[in-house]
Amino acid sequence: MTVRMRPVLAALPAYVPGRNVPGSIKLASNETAYGPLPHVLDRITAAAAEANRYPDTNSSELLRALSQRFDIGVEHLVVGCGSVSLCQQLVQATAGHGDEVIFGWRSFEAYPIITAVAGAQAVQVPLREQVYDLPALAAAVTDRTRLIFVCNPNNPTGTAVPGVELTEFLDQVPSDVLVVLDEAYREFVTDEKVQDGTGLLERYPNLMVLRTFSKAYGLAGLRIGYGLAADPAVAMAVRQTQVPFAVTHVAQAAALASLEPEAGQQLADRVAEVVAERSRVTSALRSAGYQLPDSEANFVWLAEGPPEQGGVDATAFGAGCEARGLIVRAFAGSGVRITIGTAAENDKFLAAAMELRGSPAG
Ligand SMILES: *Cc1c(COP(=O)(O)O)cnc(C)c1O
Repeated sequence: MTVRMRPVLAALPAYVPGRNVPGSIKLASNETAYGPLPHVLDRITAAAAEANRYPDTNSSELLRALSQRFDIGVEHLVVGCGSVSLCQQLVQATAGHGDEVIFGWRSFEAYPIITAVAGAQAVQVPLREQVYDLPALAAAVTDRTRLIFVCNPNNPTGTAVPGVELTEFLDQVPSDVLVVLDEAYREFVTDEKVQDGTGLLERYPNLMVLRTFSKAYGLAGLRIGYGLAADPAVAMAVRQTQVPFAVTHVAQAAALASLEPEAGQQLADRVAEVVAERSRVTSALRSAGYQLPDSEANFVWLAEGPPEQGGVDATAFGAGCEARGLIVRAFAGSGVRITIGTAAENDKFLAAAMELRGSPAG
């Protein structure tokens, strides 16, 4: 006899992390190309010396710093072991067997897995021209809907919905359905029409905004993210579903150091470099005949499609890049997501993309 697992596990889509091939350039996981800022690294080292002690399970000091930064009471704030963990806690807190969780598709790979593990039903609403179709999401709400994920900018397409559309959508969603606005890439947004979700919390009591230190702040390996809940009861539900001591002391120290004024300008410079490189890569790809949507994140998206319409064969393109020492994220039959790296890395990617455009496999 073998151990009996829940049947849901057999049908679960696997989370496929970006591959790590030694010696290759990794443009597959939307990470920052640079290590932690020097003073952040110092604080990480200092915090590591206290690793014999359990961390503060409430991340109190970090909550206070976030409270100041966003001018919001600590009772609205939560910290988690990466914002993906907060996504999971929010689904666990709101949805179980027979309940529905709505999100756009294709979007963040973790949403369907988290939903299925909770025993809830995923309702995937197709993107429209690579963008979250908010009217269609609103129309998909039923009396079983408990939570809606809006990934803005969307991973993996990089597209973002404008503020007007977002508020129209929020006006339509019943106030007892939690809307989780996943802003993992907010720091890279340059389009002024794309509203910062934290500015909407006072208007929508069912809104939760998620942010992370993994992307712009460059702390992906430490696992720390945070959330702002319009309703303190939602923040409380996140605390209730947290694994004790889930956020390490080292991660808390690094996040705190990253919020200090000293870090502000350096991080802003890094973000500005990514944004400039994003424009350069986008233009170069378009000049070569690729079609791609405007990205508001730290990656670009090449959709699957016939080459004469600027599309790619995702699997072939991914393999072609890998053969040239570059790891990108190919979603078979759907498209390829390429993280913006350093200028030199992006040059290597562009050179590969030019070659692939010319070859039948591209
Ligand atoms: C990367 C990412 C996250 C979160 O990452 P953590 O490392 O868990 O904080 C959340 N949402 C989306 C859409 C992402 O792409």
